[in-house]
Amino acid sequence: MDYYANMEALTDDNKNVFVKILRFGPLTKKKIIEYTHMKLTTLNRSIQVLIHAKLIVEIGEQASTGGRKPALFDVNPMAYYLVGIDISRTYSKVIITNLKREILFDKEFEMKHDMTPYKTVECIKKLYLRGLRSLGLKKESILGGGLGTIGPLDPREGIIHKPNNFYAKGWTNVPIKNMLEKALGINMVIDNGANTAVYGEYVSRSLIEYKNIVYVNCGIGIRTGVMAGGKIISTIHNSNDAFGHMVVNFDGEPCYCGQYGCVECYASILAIEKKYRSYLKLGRETNIKKPISQITYGDIIRAGDHGEELAQDVLASAARILGIGLVNYVTLVNPEKIILSGPMMNLSDIFYHMVITYIEKSVLKDGHSIVFVRGGAYKDNAIALGAAHMFLRDKLQ
Ligand SMILES: [Zn+2]
Repeated sequence: MDYYANMEALTDDNKNVFVKILRFGPLTKKKIIEYTHMKLTTLNRSIQVLIHAKLIVEIGEQASTGGRKPALFDVNPMAYYLVGIDISRTYSKVIITNLKREILFDKEFEMKHDMTPYKTVECIKKLYLRGLRSLGLKKESILGGGLGTIGPLDPREGIIHKPNNFYAKGWTNVPIKNMLEKALGINMVIDNGANTAVYGEYVSRSLIEYKNIVYVNCGIGIRTGVMAGGKIISTIHNSNDAFGHMVVNFDGEPCYCGQYGCVECYASILAIEKKYRSYLKLGRETNIKKPISQITYGDIIRAGDHGEELAQDVLASAARILGIGLVNYVTLVNPEKIILSGPMMNLSDIFYHMVITYIEKSVLKDGHSIVFVRGGAYKDNAIALGAAHMFLRDKLQ
């Protein structure tokens, strides 16, 4: 069966029904009519088309108190698949997901100092082919794919411009979309990783009722994605580190972006490690038995968990600065839900809880409430999963 012929042949009504089943399914016909305000005859035609195209299936019956039980329709989890790719500073990842957003294959590799764009694409191709083999899938069952990566980038042209802090050379003005499409033999979409991550969380079942979501990833850099009214809000240059370069102290530390006192100068992994080492050079005591230059954020987090005063001080003051930044951000974009993810949030209880405390203390008054989620529904797979499903979203618009 030729997928593109089927997809292109879908009418607006067909797409409308499919989008509702994708997001809220499994659904009865009655529920679909509530969502779409469609006539039953039109809905019946669309359901026939979608079943014939193998995009949806009838999955038995809903429990009922009496009479005939209504049929339920859900996305077909076994006909078509999507590829999600995440290219980050420290690792890159390939996933294969079905249309129900279940991750069936995920593998990553380290972005060592020799990982040029060419070599990275070769590694991605190897993992993709391994994924197809291990799942027993034919290439024709892959609808397409998405890439979430580091900005600034041009999503239309599919070019990564000039990302900061990449170890390997050659990452300036890279036509990455084209390179991946040729290597994998599929069509791709590309966006910055924080945007694809917030989209991934938006389509997850656990956030189905939320349309205003902020995604914060705190790691080597600080990346944020915002979804308002179900739409992604992009910055002008499509960079995802704009929040990290909000100035919180005019007289503060110099930042590589040229400003002083950016959030990232205090709350990123690199900033936390630098601060900790600077205290040791001043003679503060540590329980970490390593040369100063080899102490990592993981050591600092563990020391904090075991009650070391210095580690706790450094983590708390980093969390305070991130908290100040987020208080301003929350005031500006007014989200219902905030996903706090990335290594600092996932690994450090002290850091995570301090950040929430600052936000709650400052902005959550007068009945205003925000739901906080640690890590998110897809954890480390959010960037790749969201990118994969952006491909489907674009096909259904
Ligand atoms: Zn900066």
